Amino acid sequence: MENPDRIPELFGSLVFNDKVMKAKLPKDIYKSLKKTIDEDAPLEIDVANVVANAMKEWALEHGATHYTHWFQPLTGITAEKHDSFIEPVGDSVVMELSGKSLIRGESDASSFPSGGLRATFEARGYTAWDPTSYAFIKEKTLCIPTAFCSYGGQALDKKAPLLRSMEAINTQALRVLRLFGKTDVKSVRTTVGAEQEYFLVTKEMYDEREDLRLCGRTLFGAKPPRSQEMEAHYFGAIKPRVKAYMEDLNEELWKFGVLAKTQHNETAPAQHELAPIFATTNIANDHNQLIMEIMKKVATRHGLVCLLHEKPFAGVNGSGKHNNFSISTNTGKNLLSPGASPADNAQFLLFLSAVIKAVDEYGDLLRISVATAGNDHRLGSSEAPPAIVSIFLGSELTEILDCIEADKPYEGKGGHLMKIGASVLPEIPMDNTDRNRTSPFAFTGNKFEFRMLGASLNIADPNIVLNTIVAESLKQIADILEAAPDFDTEVHNIVKRIYANHKKVIFNGDGYSENWQKEAEKRGLPNYRTVPDAVPHFADPKNIKVFTDHKILSEVEIRSRIEISLENYAKTIGIEALTMSDMVKKQILPAVQSYIAELGTNALNKKALGIKALGYETAMLEELSAYSDSLYQATVALDMALTAVPGSTEAAARYYCDEVLPRMNTVREAADKLEAITASEYWPFPTYSDLLFGVR
Ligand code: ADP
Ligand code: MG
Repeated sequence: MENPDRIPELFGSLVFNDKVMKAKLPKDIYKSLKKTIDEDAPLEIDVANVVANAMKEWALEHGATHYTHWFQPLTGITAEKHDSFIEPVGDSVVMELSGKSLIRGESDASSFPSGGLRATFEARGYTAWDPTSYAFIKEKTLCIPTAFCSYGGQALDKKAPLLRSMEAINTQALRVLRLFGKTDVKSVRTTVGAEQEYFLVTKEMYDEREDLRLCGRTLFGAKPPRSQEMEAHYFGAIKPRVKAYMEDLNEELWKFGVLAKTQHNETAPAQHELAPIFATTNIANDHNQLIMEIMKKVATRHGLVCLLHEKPFAGVNGSGKHNNFSISTNTGKNLLSPGASPADNAQFLLFLSAVIKAVDEYGDLLRISVATAGNDHRLGSSEAPPAIVSIFLGSELTEILDCIEADKPYEGKGGHLMKIGASVLPEIPMDNTDRNRTSPFAFTGNKFEFRMLGASLNIADPNIVLNTIVAESLKQIADILEAAPDFDTEVHNIVKRIYANHKKVIFNGDGYSENWQKEAEKRGLPNYRTVPDAVPHFADPKNIKVFTDHKILSEVEIRSRIEISLENYAKTIGIEALTMSDMVKKQILPAVQSYIAELGTNALNKKALGIKALGYETAMLEELSAYSDSLYQATVALDMALTAVPGSTEAAARYYCDEVLPRMNTVREAADKLEAITASEYWPFPTYSDLLFGVR
């Protein structure tokens, strides 16, 4: 940036944030709104009217002409429908935004997926303002973050259940904190920092690849002579063109109040990462949606394309999103931070235990929450955590809990018995705990890092699960503690019991190893490798129970989400298969034919001249023809398979997994072999080397 002094002024300049509210709203209105934001108090229409007017005035000052209820339908991306502020008055217009239009919008959104929740005849849903996430201006439009529901009250989006889950964990955590005497705490929120990985390729090359354009990932590509073996890229110097992109991206994000903080190159060539500073989950979610959108938009300005697919290139690291998760009070206390006193430690161990219990009992839900066709290519392929959910705690904490369980003295603490509520925990070194990169769910000193998310995922899904299952643990804990005659003893017993019952989910070893797969099976941990293996378990009785008990999702809402997820999986693979077939028939086979023709002509010419040494030409012609035949046959087999997809969504998803994907792999194998022996000038689209090393 030319003038870094401008950053503080730039930051949040497009956001109707606390500073703006304070400046623009009458004191009593500001206070009411704050109460709604911080303590979930209901919002009066009179207050909404004043807020709406102030928001409109501010938006007009910033050149906005339209407003939109910005929402996150079940497609996972964000949607917006723009309305202008104009209201006719006689022959003229005034610019208006009423409290009613701020709070609630109508949306005929019949083409968003609802998984059967909403018949087309009652296609209308409504959007409801989420005052806890600031409104902002994007492209001359005031964007009002909203939840999207049907008139029957069913959630048609990701935000409504996320907000409900935050409410659930707030309620249960407050119960536990009250028992610790924390009467000053008014609310508890989960916090999330989502580290976002992405690839950059040049726009020219992207345009030449039908697979990238239609599917977001390459369906073909021989392994290049060099990819990530040298590990030269990871944290390496950032190329000027990428640097310019990152600077521009940061600047854009800062305007939206996104705390974009760190950026670096990732493992694969052309792969990078952006990490914002953490925020309340709901806001972190909205911000992550903005980050993904702006990453793509800014790339276009730089002649680049930002790929957020989980696995754009086979054989090269895929892109994930690390969801750093913690729980905080409105008084600024991180409940997953050990603290310094015996009482703080007791409280910490209790919340830690709540998470351990939750992840052990509902690891399947965490797995399901990250299940997408794209992520299936990553999980368990020795670059990302396996599909088995386990917790990394680090050696210190594990030893401490082992000692508590066995009533054994803890060596690291001068051989004292660890009595919860009376003993002080030893320092738990942050760095030391962060080294295990193979764990899907790692404790990193004062937060958990959930690492199974694919890069394109809407982070609402895993966070809905995390909030809900931890709320359930806390509820059970509070039920016991509220009835306990001796609080300290009961806290000790709960921590001990939870550890004994749930330590099978703790694994500090190498998550990538073969042994772990076997060990995990012995421990009874589920290993759902694919979407059709995982997603139907969303409706297992225990899972329906936890979601309905806490009023996060009804059974109907759960079933609709299963339907959408499986349908999405089937559609994704269906499109990929058709794209493959198209590229083979229209690009790859014709290109190879031209090369064969050239070799053939050469051979004939040589023969005519009486040259006998035709070994090279014949060998090449044989090989090219043989692979062309295999490719053609494999493609015909794929086409055939696509004519027999079963009708029901679940059966179709299964079929795409078991019948279509293996045939796609066969097609790819033959095509990649051809790529390796076809002259570059004939190959119809940019190769892996071109794509991965093309941004200079
Ligand atoms: P790393 O070593 O993985 O880079 P950092 O401490 O820098 O770890 O944090 C990585 C991410 O975790 C950042 O987005 C950061 O804001 C986030 N983070 C830190 N503390 C918390 C917290 N209490 N709750 C949620 N996320 C957090
Ligand atoms: Mg990380």
